[in-house]
Amino acid sequence: RIEMKNVVKKYGTNTVVRGVNLKVEDGEVVAMIGPSGAGKSTVLRMMNGLETTTSGEILIDGTDIAKPHVDIDKVRAKIGMVFQHFNLFPNMSVLGNVTLAPTELGMMTKDEADKEGRRMLDSVGLADKVDAMPSTLSGGQKQRVAIARALTMHPDMMLFDEPTSALDPEMVGDVLGVMRKLAKQGMTMVVVTHEMGFAKEVADRVVFFEGGEIQESGTPDQVFEHPKNERLQSFLQKVL
Ligand code: ATP
Ligand code: MG
Repeated sequence: RIEMKNVVKKYGTNTVVRGVNLKVEDGEVVAMIGPSGAGKSTVLRMMNGLETTTSGEILIDGTDIAKPHVDIDKVRAKIGMVFQHFNLFPNMSVLGNVTLAPTELGMMTKDEADKEGRRMLDSVGLADKVDAMPSTLSGGQKQRVAIARALTMHPDMMLFDEPTSALDPEMVGDVLGVMRKLAKQGMTMVVVTHEMGFAKEVADRVVFFEGGEIQESGTPDQVFEHPKNERLQSFLQKVL
């Protein structure tokens, strides 16, 4: 469970997140939409401590990670994150990439990690790529490896920052398919996305950001079919 209370982020004198309040319940899928520069990535990165918080509270299962001196690694181990660019290690096989973190962190033995890594690669449709090198994979396959890598850590929640934005159109469906399956399995997910179809279909709640603020939030039906906020209305006109 994630709870942001009055979260503010400043870069120098530039306030890019202005008092955000956002709750994500266990098992909930929240889609974050909004124009470029709205603060979506910043908010997502603050949720796992990749970005410091200027003020406010960010409670992850009750632990306020906005406070200094929290054991952020312990919190991060529960949160999987997938970015636009997959950041796979080029000199390691697919399985090597997927098993690196749990073994390095001492969470699993090599055998356990191999078994779990293979299971997760199978679940994203890449059982046959276990021994492949990342350079031989398509973008969509690389992104699915990145998702399997995060899942091998058995996270309680997953954060996605435009996971399909860097992909060729024909690869997008496979990655969204994996995410849809995860959502169905009850994974708690926050997804920054430009895929409005995905947000409509998979999200329990859609949050529209602009100017560092949540301008509107609601069910997909409320946000897409009955938008109240003017900025949301004009945003939707551009993207739908
Ligand atoms: P996009 O859709 O383009 O990814 P976004 O909604 O994710 O946009 P953010 O990346 O969160 O937007 O950026 C919000 C604002 O914060 C922008 O104005 C950006 O220039 C600023 N910003 C982000 N990171 C930094 C940084 N490290 N230093 C200074 N300003 C930053
Ligand atoms: Mg972004």
